[in-house]
Amino acid sequence: MSKRETGEKKDASAVALPGDFLASPEEFLPGKNTYEQHDSVRARLSGRVERDLSKREVAVRPAVVAKTPTVGDVVVGQVEAAMTSTAGVRIAYLNGTETRAGFPGTIFTRGERGGRGERRTYVKLGDVVRARVSSTMNGMNQLSLDEPHLGVLASLCSVCGTPLLRGDGRAKCEECGSVEERKFADDFGTQNIQP
Ligand SMILES: [Zn+2]
Repeated sequence: MSKRETGEKKDASAVALPGDFLASPEEFLPGKNTYEQHDSVRARLSGRVERDLSKREVAVRPAVVAKTPTVGDVVVGQVEAAMTSTAGVRIAYLNGTETRAGFPGTIFTRGERGGRGERRTYVKLGDVVRARVSSTMNGMNQLSLDEPHLGVLASLCSVCGTPLLRGDGRAKCEECGSVEERKFADDFGTQNIQP
C-alpha cells in the first residue's frame, strides 16, 4: 500500500488521482466525483479531496485542466527547433492567454505554397511567431502562418544577433547588412507584441 492509500486521510489539502482510496464507507459517504467500491470510497477523477465532517461526506473537486490547443486557435510561441522541412514551436500564449503547459507546435516550412520543390524559409530558430492551429491530428499541433496577421513577430539577425527591423517580406540587418527572409506578421516590428 502506498502512502497515499494509508496515510494523509485526514489531510484536508490532499490531492487524489482517479481510483485513489479516500475513506471507508463507515467513515465517509461518497460525495461528488467519488464512487464506492467494495469497502472503500474512491476518487473518480483527479483533484483536491474535500471532507465535509458535518455531512460525513468525502468529495473530489476536479483539478483545473489546462486548455489544450484546438483547430482555429491562435497561438504565440518561440521557435525552438528548425529542421529542413519543419520548425518546432513552444507555445506561450493560447488565444491571447498565457499558458505554462509548454504545448509544442509544428510548422511545415516546405511545400506550403508553390510546390515546385522550392524551399522557403519562413522562420528561424529563436523567432517569436503568431500562428493558427490548423490540425491536432495524432496529438500534433500543426501550425499555419498563412494569413497576413500570422507569422514572425520578433526576430534576431542570424549572423550577428541584432533585432531585425520591419521589412517587406524580408528584413535587412542594420548592423551587419545581412538580408533575412521570413514570413512576417503584418504587425512585425511594433513595440509591444500583442499575443
Ligand atoms: Zn546582423
